[in-house]
Amino acid sequence: MRAVGPADRNVEVVALDVTIELGAASHIGKVRRLNEDAYLARRHLALVADGMGGHACGDVASAHAVEALAAIAERDRLRPEDVQEAIGQANEAILADSREPGRGGMGTTLSGIALVDFGGSPHWLVFNIGDSRVYRIAGGAAVQLTVDHSEVAELVALGRLRAEEASSHPLRHVITRSLGTDPAPAPDVWIFPTDPDGDVFVACSDGLTNELDDARIAAIVEAARGPRDAATMLVDAAVEAGGRDNVTAVVVHTPPAAEDDLDVATTPKQPDPRAER
Ligand code: MN
Repeated sequence: MRAVGPADRNVEVVALDVTIELGAASHIGKVRRLNEDAYLARRHLALVADGMGGHACGDVASAHAVEALAAIAERDRLRPEDVQEAIGQANEAILADSREPGRGGMGTTLSGIALVDFGGSPHWLVFNIGDSRVYRIAGGAAVQLTVDHSEVAELVALGRLRAEEASSHPLRHVITRSLGTDPAPAPDVWIFPTDPDGDVFVACSDGLTNELDDARIAAIVEAARGPRDAATMLVDAAVEAGGRDNVTAVVVHTPPAAEDDLDVATTPKQPDPRAER
């Protein structure tokens, strides 16, 4: 496993006046002989990459993805186009390396979240290529923000397969979009403002979601003492549940904004309807 960022501690950083705490954990699992997952948990960037290819160096592909994104993590402000350019560079790096003998056909998923400057205010940018996922944890539930690029997800979307059949379908591991292809894959991207009440996100590889359902993921994160604890507990639970693949989780937490940070001028108070009765 190639890992960049904290595996054993929480990190608090401030970017765009938003404090971010990060936690990350990765495990080879109980079956695989190599951990081809990689992750980045640094400042305003959190992501996982699940390398594919086995003999064809999936670990090299996922490391390229992490390195390309790590190159922009040191910038004080990220714009959406910075993230998209870095994803393009990751694809180029994997393609270039694929021309080396024995490395043809390697690829990787890439799923994550970045705090970006969008129109001068802090927004989250969620990005995805492949079947790794980003969840938002809120109100005791885990909501999958990304859409899987997989054969089974597409069959479910077309109404040809019921969602409950997807987890046992023979095509469940076949992904329809990955980094390391020519032409370059288009990442799915979602942009939305940060929540002043705080946000919690989980980015993870399919080794986690194949072992734990969404309800279990939410329950574990809510029970954890912080992002580092949450990431470790998620990965431990997935390994205990079978660990049939490499398992990686990165957890992002922003605490609620302090009262003084809220710009009251932009949120005029509405008259209280009860006062008018
Ligand atoms: Mn995997």
